[in-house]
Amino acid sequence: MALLVKKFGGSSVATPEKIFHLVDRVLAEKHEGDQIVIVVSAMGDTTDDLVTLAGRVSRHMPKREMDMLLATGEQVSIALLAAAFQERGQKAVSLTGPQAGIRTNDHHTKAGIVEVKADRVLAELEKGNIVVVAGFQGLDDEGDVTTLGRGGSDTTAVAVAAGTHADMCEIYTDVDGVYTADPRIVPGARKLQEITFGEMLELARLGAGVMQPRAVEYGEHAGVDIHVRSTFHEVEGTIIRREYTLQGEKEYVVRGVTSDVNVAKIAVRGVDDKPGVAFRIFDALAKVNVDVDMIVQSGSAVPNKNDMVFTCQKADMADAVAVLETLKAEMGFTRIDLEANVAKVSVVGAGMLGSPGIAAGMFGALASKQINLIVVSTSEISISCLIPRDQVEEAVNAVHDYFFPRTDK
Ligand code: ADP
Ligand code: ASP
Ligand code: MG
Repeated sequence: MALLVKKFGGSSVATPEKIFHLVDRVLAEKHEGDQIVIVVSAMGDTTDDLVTLAGRVSRHMPKREMDMLLATGEQVSIALLAAAFQERGQKAVSLTGPQAGIRTNDHHTKAGIVEVKADRVLAELEKGNIVVVAGFQGLDDEGDVTTLGRGGSDTTAVAVAAGTHADMCEIYTDVDGVYTADPRIVPGARKLQEITFGEMLELARLGAGVMQPRAVEYGEHAGVDIHVRSTFHEVEGTIIRREYTLQGEKEYVVRGVTSDVNVAKIAVRGVDDKPGVAFRIFDALAKVNVDVDMIVQSGSAVPNKNDMVFTCQKADMADAVAVLETLKAEMGFTRIDLEANVAKVSVVGAGMLGSPGIAAGMFGALASKQINLIVVSTSEISISCLIPRDQVEEAVNAVHDYFFPRTDK
């Protein structure tokens, strides 16, 4: 007997047929006495469609109302899924995020989970129900519905697994696990059997959409191992855990190559070359919740002036520019330039710290395809290059081929 949390993404519940496929698989694999919580996303492209719909009503949709709208997607899938279990004769109950005790801060559209009050979920399990929880949503202290940022159902699943002290947290999706690169971009990518929280977090942060970064962080802090696996094939996936247990898995210095096209480059031109300037700019950005990634400060053609270049998510670009505009007059910078036609390509691996030549290898692979590097940044376990958007697929393939040479060529 075990308490299992299983999360199914939007593609796994895209149609009634897929919902029944999922239900039948869960029931076939369920052992006598198992308690099961299902966390589910909105059907198919529902969330994208709702975002588009919002844009047709308001170019600056208030974030509170955006959350009210987006949370409806998951409410549809929980009701259908619970009903489908009942069709098969299995007791089941649907719960929204708020009903399931998911408490968040008030950062609408990217709220963070602060607590899971699991009593209701546990009580429903005790009654013999499969509990179907809406991913991606919670409740703030005002009593308002919040959402957790795109891909947030992953985080709901890990948080519910932690809150219920589940024996296992499984993330079912449309690929067989975590690969050395997005298998849709790199056909030769190989599935990893294991990956550490630290490396997975870096991969996710740098664009590997298979897991929401916050879910990985939550798993690490709460000590919840995560099994990423396929909804459609019954094969073992990838375990995300604290340490490697398989010798073969830790031999690769680079664990993955990833890319992010949802980035924008912002250049603040002609800022004063004096102490405190960077603080004022980035403090103002932080206060409106803009996550800044690569930062480069360089001298300007004008004496005693600098250019401050940074990247952020495209979705944050409008907030970033609005806040910079308010600083422009008082700080006296000349221009704010935007470039959205960029992408970031990254390699990740904890082993690269003690392995010289990783950066050179990556730059060489990009150079071999005549790809220009706009900005480069590094962390202890990753190297990222900002490149022209239209070369991103070629770049990821070239870098992947270099670090994971194909044996069939
Ligand atoms: P879900 O709807 O199940 O949450 P997502 O679309 O959020 O599914 O995540 C799964 C997708 O993540 C895959 O279809 C794949 O294209 C993408 N992906 C990106 N990087 C990787 C990677 N390194 N390994 C596996 N999948 C990846
Ligand atoms: N439905 C939400 C999204 O599309 C949450 C999720 O799928 O995890 O981002
Ligand atoms: Mg997802």
